[in-house]
Amino acid sequence: MRKIIFGNWKMNPLSLSEALKIAKATDFKNVVICPPFPFLIPVKNHLRKAGLGAQDIFWGGLPTGGGAYTGEVSGVMLKKSGASFVIIGHSERRRVLGETDEIINKKIKVALAAGLRVVLCIGEPAEVRKKGETAAKIFVKSQLTKDLKNILGRRVRAQNLIVAYEPVWAISTSRDPKLTETPEMIVQMIRFIKNLLGSKFKVQGSRILYGGSVTAENIERIIKHKEIDGALVGGASLKPVEFKKIIQIAKKNG
Ligand code: PEP
Repeated sequence: MRKIIFGNWKMNPLSLSEALKIAKATDFKNVVICPPFPFLIPVKNHLRKAGLGAQDIFWGGLPTGGGAYTGEVSGVMLKKSGASFVIIGHSERRRVLGETDEIINKKIKVALAAGLRVVLCIGEPAEVRKKGETAAKIFVKSQLTKDLKNILGRRVRAQNLIVAYEPVWAISTSRDPKLTETPEMIVQMIRFIKNLLGSKFKVQGSRILYGGSVTAENIERIIKHKEIDGALVGGASLKPVEFKKIIQIAKKNG
């Protein structure tokens, strides 16, 4: 299985012309670009090789994909806009917008029903990691259990569920200077998630990504491990030269 690199642009860039410039420069196979909603369709129209992902989805609405939900976007709309993937449960949404595991669980259900492939973000905050490896694993297991409640019994295909392990303290916007991620730590947690998915949730073969301050400088040390199926890249995905290097290194290690 090839390594896959997701670029999460978050609430950037500010203009369509900039968005198209970045998209064109980073349009490679095994890459998925996740722009903000207004840029989904124009970016899709410029991509030849990369896939398209959305950064969020609404959990409710009519089965047809519409409804009286001001400001929200349904899975049906995302599909029609050309997205194949959707990021759900990003720590910024959990932290800043108060998204709960219950909301995330509903979002995963509607995304799968709309035919989208889910990138579920999980990961422990700094105060938990400071208590040690076991505490971090208990936290992650609890997130997975709540986020995937009543979902995996429905025979979700492994390819439709990607998990991104993103320790909150390692993400560039919420870094804790007292903690340092190591490839061993990441591999350990990813092995743990893979085992859990297989044993508890009966899903074998889902890709598990790592996310948290991935750069062209540190990607090789991380991605060379066979357990790590790819990366979710935030800040660096907006810098075409750097993101291209990340993609090339991932390809070399694929
Ligand atoms: C992210 O947004 O998921 C992320 C990992 O961000 P960054 O790479 O900037 O830490």
